[in-house]
Amino acid sequence: MDEELRMCPNCKNMVSKWEIVFTRDCHGIPFRPVCQLCYAELMRDGYDGSTTQKLMNVSMMNIEEIEHERKDR
Ligand SMILES: [Zn+2]
Repeated sequence: MDEELRMCPNCKNMVSKWEIVFTRDCHGIPFRPVCQLCYAELMRDGYDGSTTQKLMNVSMMNIEEIEHERKDR
């Protein structure tokens, strides 16, 4: 039987479709198919996805803004 290959979007390696695992975003929804090595790396924080990064950036910005406001007063 021929092995079907897929490209991992993270490391760009061709991997067998049997080695492809879906990462999950912060809502537990399947996010993207990656190889098992990347899965372990991407899911180290518990989830994958831009939503997570956006949320982190927003909270970082808010902290900076709050500190600026404190200095002005
Ligand atoms: Zn990969």
